[in-house]
Amino acid sequence: MFVYADHAATTKLRESAARVYAETAAAYYGNPSSLHTVGQKAQEKLTECRERIADLLGADAREIYFTSGGSESDNQAILSAASFGARKGKKKLISTAIEHHAVLHTLNKLQKEGFEVVLLPVGENGIVSPADVENAIDENTALVSVMLANNEIGTIQPVEEIGEICRRRGVLFHTDAVQAVGHIPVDVKKIGCDYLALSAHKFGGPKGVGALYVRRGAPLSPLIEGGAQERGKRAGTEDLPAIAAMTEALRASIADMGATDALLRKLQDKLIDGLSKIPHSILNGDRVRRLPGNTSFCFEGIEGESLLLLLDDKGVCASSGSACTSGSLDPSHVLLAIGRVHDVAHGSLRITLGEENTEADVDYLLQVIPEVVAYLRGMSPVWRDLQTGKRQFIL
Ligand SMILES: *Cc1c(COP(=O)(O)O)cnc(C)c1O
Repeated sequence: MFVYADHAATTKLRESAARVYAETAAAYYGNPSSLHTVGQKAQEKLTECRERIADLLGADAREIYFTSGGSESDNQAILSAASFGARKGKKKLISTAIEHHAVLHTLNKLQKEGFEVVLLPVGENGIVSPADVENAIDENTALVSVMLANNEIGTIQPVEEIGEICRRRGVLFHTDAVQAVGHIPVDVKKIGCDYLALSAHKFGGPKGVGALYVRRGAPLSPLIEGGAQERGKRAGTEDLPAIAAMTEALRASIADMGATDALLRKLQDKLIDGLSKIPHSILNGDRVRRLPGNTSFCFEGIEGESLLLLLDDKGVCASSGSACTSGSLDPSHVLLAIGRVHDVAHGSLRITLGEENTEADVDYLLQVIPEVVAYLRGMSPVWRDLQTGKRQFIL
């Protein structure tokens, strides 16, 4: 049996998106900046993609900028708002402790350059409080950046309330919606954000392509200088096949969203109920306000890395913490932020399902995960100490 359960890291390219990719690469090989017929045909295709993506997000076509993905979009939004703020003497940036590294590392860099960065805590359920956002805002605040849905524990943040606060207080608001777009309804006008980042490979599109929504009138400065592509805000010949494939992937994901959501909620319920039966385990993140595909657990007395490798041997691809932190020995900043102590945070497992997963996959997961956890605990000196009372259980 083989179960791919790491959709938060990346998704398989949808068949229809792969088809559009190949067709676009063959039929629209012109450079959209060229004035001749072949170039103009590509330009028209690009415009059509921009209009469709805008439509799917409730935006205007002029508010969509194509980028290389989520990281670039997050970087550009934050750096643009920060430099705009700095010109007006506003150097405070507010975000949360559970953001993706594309946001956190950009903020770190700005902090070294003299910005004040405030990372708000989240509750044990992994959700930030809008009141905390409101209280942190002052006259020096240039930007609030709060992700729409967390990539590790799947929690969905109250971005509409935060958007309303930011608008009322006249502060720019960015949301990293990379985990949300294509999975739950996302409407930029409802959120009331100034910037929104998305990435194609998280919803069945190709890797290396994404978009940044920028509300008309919000400041935007280029990260890459060169030609006048993307209205002078992002130089470089557009990857039209990838953009067209992303457009198709987003269309299809949204068209299938109702059915996918129903399936994934059912699978998630079964998985959470089943894994909760493992002694000394805990669900990470809110039970209800979470992405339909995300199930994240901590198991006391084991190492997530060993768990992953043994699961991989059994044909299960999952994750421990985020892909960016696995490989390093530091426990996930997200798990620490929801109050998991180091030892417990190390024993984490993230299972993220997608629309091609089945109930049989979940049955298999519920067979192998408890087996592997019990096997690892059987070899663990920490577990022995817990059993003999030399150490106290935390969970
Ligand atoms: C994957 C991810 C990113 C980075 O997107 P890339 O397209 O891989 O650069 C940013 N934020 C979140 C929440 C993500 O899950």
